[in-house]
Amino acid sequence: MTFPPWAKSLLVQSSMRLAVRTTNSVDPARSAQMALVRGRDTKPELLVRRTLHAAGLRYRLQAKDLIGKPDLVFRSRQIAVFVHGCFWHQHPDQNCRLARMPKSKLDFWAPKLKGNRLRDERVKIALEKRGWRVIEVWECQTKPEDLSKLVEEIKTLMKSSVSVLRDT
Ligand SMILES: [Zn+2]
Repeated sequence: MTFPPWAKSLLVQSSMRLAVRTTNSVDPARSAQMALVRGRDTKPELLVRRTLHAAGLRYRLQAKDLIGKPDLVFRSRQIAVFVHGCFWHQHPDQNCRLARMPKSKLDFWAPKLKGNRLRDERVKIALEKRGWRVIEVWECQTKPEDLSKLVEEIKTLMKSSVSVLRDT
């Protein structure tokens, strides 16, 4: 998960304002900001990595030369995996509680978050045009049973693909 350069300062400013309010409810903007502070190795991403590795799947991290810099790639099979934070990437699932828009400063958040989602979609289409299969893993779908399904999905894709490069 990467963030555009403008995001960090805006998020920090926003969180400073949010922090002034006292509330027991988890504000999605605030939890996204906290995830940002923790850096790119977010918990969902680490869970995915650990599960795939334990299943014997060998991937490469952060394919910087590829459009959208996928979090994990199986290069020889042209499979790209993105692990998306539900808030920041606006998980398009009505049941996802993490993707809810913040109640305050909607004029600030709405265009930014919609822009992120649109960018993800453009990246996916561009990669697919170049022959990549793209898997999006959502933060709220990293429970053990979800991750088992992910392993199966990747294994199936690998079987159905012809290796375009030598595995290294
Ligand atoms: Zn979600």
